[in-house]
Amino acid sequence: MDDFFPPDRPRDVRPGEYPVWDAALALVNRDLATLLPEHGPLRLLALPHWPKEPTDAGQPPEQVYVALPDGRRHGDDLHEHPDSTPAGALVDVAGAAQETVLECLWEVWPVCPDHRLGMHPGLEDGRPVWRCAGSRAPGNPEHVRAIGELEPAHRPRSVRRRERNRNKQSKRDGTSASQ
Ligand SMILES: [Zn+2]
Repeated sequence: MDDFFPPDRPRDVRPGEYPVWDAALALVNRDLATLLPEHGPLRLLALPHWPKEPTDAGQPPEQVYVALPDGRRHGDDLHEHPDSTPAGALVDVAGAAQETVLECLWEVWPVCPDHRLGMHPGLEDGRPVWRCAGSRAPGNPEHVRAIGELEPAHRPRSVRRRERNRNKQSKRDGTSASQ
């Protein structure tokens, strides 16, 4: 019965298959849950390499993507670098997550509350962080946040606007209910 399905059907990565990426995605999902709770959690999907070719030693036998809960994804697959650290892998996974959410959902996240600019993953003194492009000074703590530790202030504008409207609405409802 397996031949019935096309061979390149994506499959969910099982826990422990790519432990470094699992751990990284858990942190990125924590940020996504704070900022865009209705869109997570993201998941790792694996697809056989296409075109099929013999894989180099150390290369995963398949391509692994960061995908939305419904399987949509965008951008390149993740790469295992021989000299990669968990911090570097976290930056890679955060970038892949950001691209999938941006291209599939048109949400720029996270944003710097001061500059209103999108933040991008990178390493700061070896630490994986979201960095605001509005601040040129390296190490400016106001515009750098550890990945996995974002606060609601980093939500996209569109989300905060929706929340304000909801709050106004429920305030109105509360007033009319008490009359
Ligand atoms: Zn900033």
